[in-house]
Amino acid sequence: MMAQYLALKAEAADCLLFYRMGDFFELFFDDARRAAQVLDIALTSRGEHQGVPIPMCGVPAHSAEGYLARLIKAGCRVAIADQTETPEEAKKRGGSKALVARAIVRFVTAGTLTEEALLEPRRANVLAAICELRGSFGIAACDISTGRMELEDCPADRLGAALARLGASEVVAPEGMSAAPQDAITRPARDFSSDTGEARLKSLHAVATLDAFGDFTRPMLAAAAGLIGYLDHAGRGKLPLLLPPVARASDAHLAMDEATRASLEVLSANQAGRGSSRQGSLIEAVDRCVTGAGARQLADDLSAPLTNVAAIEARLALVDWLHSDPLLRGDLREVMRAIPDLGRALGRVVAGRGSPRDLGQLRDGLSESRRIHDFLKGAKFRPALLDALLPALTGHGALTDHFTRALVPTPPTERGQGGYIAEQFDHGLDELRQISGDARRAIAALEAKYRADTGIAALKIRHNGVLGYFIEVPARYADALMVPDSGFTHRQTMAGAVRFNALALHDEASRIAQAGGHAQAREEEHFAALCEMAIAARQQIAATAAALARLDVAAGQAERASEGGWCRPALAEDRALEIVGGRHPVVENALAARGDRFVANDCALSDSDRLWLIGGPNMGGKSTFLRQNALIVLLAQAGGFVPAQSARIGLVDRLFSRVGASDNLARGRSTFMVEMVETAAILAQATERSFVILDEVGRGTSTYDGLALAWAVVEAVHGTTRCRCLFATHYHELARLAESCDALSLHHVRAREWQGDLVLLHELANGPADRSYGLAVAKLAGVPTPVVARAKAVLDRLEKGRAQTGGIAAGLGDLPLFAAAAEHNEDVADTLRARLDATDLDALSPREALELLYELKRDAGTLP
Ligand code: ADP
Repeated sequence: MMAQYLALKAEAADCLLFYRMGDFFELFFDDARRAAQVLDIALTSRGEHQGVPIPMCGVPAHSAEGYLARLIKAGCRVAIADQTETPEEAKKRGGSKALVARAIVRFVTAGTLTEEALLEPRRANVLAAICELRGSFGIAACDISTGRMELEDCPADRLGAALARLGASEVVAPEGMSAAPQDAITRPARDFSSDTGEARLKSLHAVATLDAFGDFTRPMLAAAAGLIGYLDHAGRGKLPLLLPPVARASDAHLAMDEATRASLEVLSANQAGRGSSRQGSLIEAVDRCVTGAGARQLADDLSAPLTNVAAIEARLALVDWLHSDPLLRGDLREVMRAIPDLGRALGRVVAGRGSPRDLGQLRDGLSESRRIHDFLKGAKFRPALLDALLPALTGHGALTDHFTRALVPTPPTERGQGGYIAEQFDHGLDELRQISGDARRAIAALEAKYRADTGIAALKIRHNGVLGYFIEVPARYADALMVPDSGFTHRQTMAGAVRFNALALHDEASRIAQAGGHAQAREEEHFAALCEMAIAARQQIAATAAALARLDVAAGQAERASEGGWCRPALAEDRALEIVGGRHPVVENALAARGDRFVANDCALSDSDRLWLIGGPNMGGKSTFLRQNALIVLLAQAGGFVPAQSARIGLVDRLFSRVGASDNLARGRSTFMVEMVETAAILAQATERSFVILDEVGRGTSTYDGLALAWAVVEAVHGTTRCRCLFATHYHELARLAESCDALSLHHVRAREWQGDLVLLHELANGPADRSYGLAVAKLAGVPTPVVARAKAVLDRLEKGRAQTGGIAAGLGDLPLFAAAAEHNEDVADTLRARLDATDLDALSPREALELLYELKRDAGTLP
């Protein structure tokens, strides 16, 4: 056995090996240690290996799913080694001592799950493969629980944003790829061949060319090869549901890098000390979907807002239509609420792990979808997107009719007991069931007969897995049945009872067993045929699931909008960002829960006024204002209504957010370092069409350094990047930039001191902030009065000093503009270079060389 185990373990490599022994999966050695720790189960030992006891732990096979879920969550991957023959077969093959053959039947990893119990209903589970081909990156991603697959080709500077958008639970990369994420699973580089990718996709979808699915580049196909190869490996040759791939253009989406997503808390919020969760995130504040599939689609929409006005407007028109008809929307949502998760049921069926219940879900989901179709078809003024979705909601009549006849109303999740095929679907099956039904009745009759014959009223006919049917009497009556010609044969003596068999009972029991076995085999055949039918229709079923999800998202967005008085944004091609009465949906919710009111604020950026410097006290609402505008852009480009009175948004190509210190200390970077890395990324990647929010740049370092950096960053954003930008700062000195930067304006959040206390109004106003109210905020926060008083004394000193010297920004007024200074230096460098080029060093005497050096220094303006 040890040899078999070790061979399988070698194959499983760094995955934990679940080794099937009877009703248990056992783990040994280090696997056992790791699993026992994660699962908090007892670590025992069994036998010895090289003289040392072998550590072991095990989980019951019937409840293995729950344990798998926990191991996967803890970052483990698991190889399942199951028995591939029965003990009887093994004996027949190799005698009584033969070892049952086992093989790894599947690898369970975070990205290759389909089990309902292991998946979150409202979250997609993405597996991604990446590779690099001639400087371009191919990304293939799929959610095998629903079969969605997409391919993308992106330049190096968009790789981070693309991976951040996908949020994959597992990434596969070729060995030795330097740009791969640290925790990527590596596979041999030869698995990532574009020719293989193309061939596999063609054979998977039985087409001669992929043209009908879209335009795929070599890097995309190479990544697809890596992805399919990995799935093949994980499923041991059995591929899960994969729908035809969709090509994603890398510029079709509003790009957001990892830091931006984290700081805007799009799909999960950073909870102090508690990791991240959906609670407090944007999606939680927006999601009113009534189905899991809808919620997953919404998450996808918010992760990848669009950059194409027509596509955004199409979504908005559908939301608008549902928004304007609350009755229709209510009815639609009511019907949709009851629809099972079609996509995931289909995923399990295709993966070969479907149950009768999954088939029942397909039947119910598809017939409900048809009802929705008929109901919407009758509606007036349908928007174009709805008309495009309608055909996908119907067309499954033959399948649903067949399934309705074939299956009982609520089929079970287990096939073992049978009983899921409906009566009258198959007469042969009905007959078999009748036989076993008759036999059961005959057994009941036998019980009455034996009672009468023996006069033992307590006699019972019972059944268990070991003996089958037997007669049981209390021990004190047993003697009468023990006599040789009583017609009963003794089977077993228990503590208080004795068990017997009888010929007639044996006959009836065999009839039941035989008919039952045949009936079950017949049900299995029907089950397989029904699965085949569903698999053959997988593309249409997946299209229906996608259409329903899209409808659910639109209805949910409309519902959310009407709950919160949100408006339909107007999209434009210019560089405006005009938001009237904007609000932050998450902060507004939090305030409402405390009974407080959110103060709506306007934002009005344009070509001539594209950088707003926002000052004001801490806690005054600066970062909330910054974030709310970024979120409004994101929501609008995702095709939804926005929390504002009105919004006109010039399309944004990239969104950047540097707000609040992200907790990156675990990765060994200081807050200031993180801030600078992120700021550098913004300056390098933002374009004129981007929207950037920056909060307190420079806060993490000394006052002088910080101010200097903030100053330079504002200048660069204004003069070089020229994107739209909201910049919050507590450096009053930056206000002087308004003198030199013409598209920059000054704003502040208002506060007032009233009877010695600070009142934060959370209202945005024009003009620079008059003071910072830092001490008042400290007092508000509960810093002891003596400390605040002492700080006041120190501040007075400092301010007196500033009055004399002009403050730390004294002299910055005549600082040449950043860009101008750089240009000047370049000019000088060029004339110097020209002169150096023209000089033949070997032809110079030492004296001439010295003179030349003096001349060059004079030209460069560095000679005193
Ligand atoms: P700052 O960035 O200026 O320090 P924040 O944006 O973090 O301030 O806001 C601090 C707190 O003020 C928030 O947690 C919220 O409770 C409240 N707040 C912010 N903006 C508003 C607003 N517009 N209306 C009402 N309360 C607000």
